[in-house]
Amino acid sequence: VCPQVSGELDDCHCDVESIDRFNNELLFPKLQALLQTDYFRFYKVNLNKPCPFWTSGSHCGLRDCTVKPCSPTREALKNWTKHDDEAQRFCLLDDEWCPDSQYVDLLLNPERFTGYKGPEAWKIWTSIYEENCFKPFTVKRPLSPLYSSGRSEGQCVEKRAFYRLISGLHASISIHLSARYLLSDEWFEKRWGPNVSEFRSRFDSELTQGEGPKRLRNLYFLFLIELRALVKALPVVKEGSFKLFTGQPQEDCRNKERLLDLLHTARSFPLHFNETSLFAGDETEAAKLKEDVRLAFMNISRIMDCVECFKCRLWGKLQTQGLGTALKILFSELPSSPPSSRLTLNRQELVALVNAIGRISTSIKELQNFRELLAEDT
Ligand code: FAD
Repeated sequence: VCPQVSGELDDCHCDVESIDRFNNELLFPKLQALLQTDYFRFYKVNLNKPCPFWTSGSHCGLRDCTVKPCSPTREALKNWTKHDDEAQRFCLLDDEWCPDSQYVDLLLNPERFTGYKGPEAWKIWTSIYEENCFKPFTVKRPLSPLYSSGRSEGQCVEKRAFYRLISGLHASISIHLSARYLLSDEWFEKRWGPNVSEFRSRFDSELTQGEGPKRLRNLYFLFLIELRALVKALPVVKEGSFKLFTGQPQEDCRNKERLLDLLHTARSFPLHFNETSLFAGDETEAAKLKEDVRLAFMNISRIMDCVECFKCRLWGKLQTQGLGTALKILFSELPSSPPSSRLTLNRQELVALVNAIGRISTSIKELQNFRELLAEDT
């Protein structure tokens, strides 16, 4: 009954077992330590932007959908400086100085089951897949001369990859809500933990007509993309002028060492995804394709403002911003990019990227736990 995900992944020479070992033993513990620090746990976000695409109903009103705000010290606020790089962005950054933006302590607001579901949630997913995600079966003919060896009914490899990233993100959300499910709700205490039948209903091969394992493979693909982005961020973070300001110099220094250690660990993984296989070929065509993908991703980041559950909106925004940052890092140095475009990262992007891969890394670790629970059940 364990969802069958094993062996080599499509589009990259990497197998699931190697990723499991590398993530669970090496990367996951380092990421967890970093994500506890003040620099990475406070995320600035505007949760009050209106939905730009339709008039949404009321906010979902579920207790577990609320977000607890917080305010870090003034000193830290003054020091979190801003660097900008609009042209290469794959997603919208909420204005750091927008009066509606607030700092959220991510540790106080864990991603978990909220009860958000039904037509409202489906509307978001449908809009993402049907209108913005180059969903494979909606594509009837080749969209570009960059045609991938017939494996996905005429869809170019970049658009197929894009769909897989979004599907991987969706799979990760489903794993988190199954792993931290509301098991009981007594008046004095709530109990959260893994719900094996919820997990099976979303990923078991038979129960999902074979879709579940494919979705899990997309999760691994997403992991590889974000891991590769971490490696490519290394030179930027290494720069002497790159500081992780929180207003506490000793802590900042330790955090930078921890971050560099994480990035070196990411670099030690031997089976990296090769991003040069994407947006290759004819330069004009590649630039056009990159723009299509960039605009589709921008749209998905806007759709996050239509998510009615605030907790889901928070993590949805953070993870799309993290993935958008990964894409910016991977594709900022294409031949089609402006010559002056040197990669820079601001605090908001770095925090989103590290938290986003933290979520995917946790999902992979949770998968291991579910495999063990399912094995005990049989
Ligand atoms: P859904 O997960 O809503 O899926 C809808 C349809 O999409 C499925 O029927 C299937 O056809 C397809 N599908 C499902 N998974 C994939 C995949 N991986 N790849 C491709 N297609 C797929 N709920 C929480 O409890 N906690 C959260 O933190 C949370 N965050 C959310 C964030 C966002 C941005 C959104 C839109 C929703 C969030 N939700 C969250 C709700 C959650 O994702 C589900 O919508 C909800 O649990 C209902 O699930 P479902 O079984 O109806 O299928």
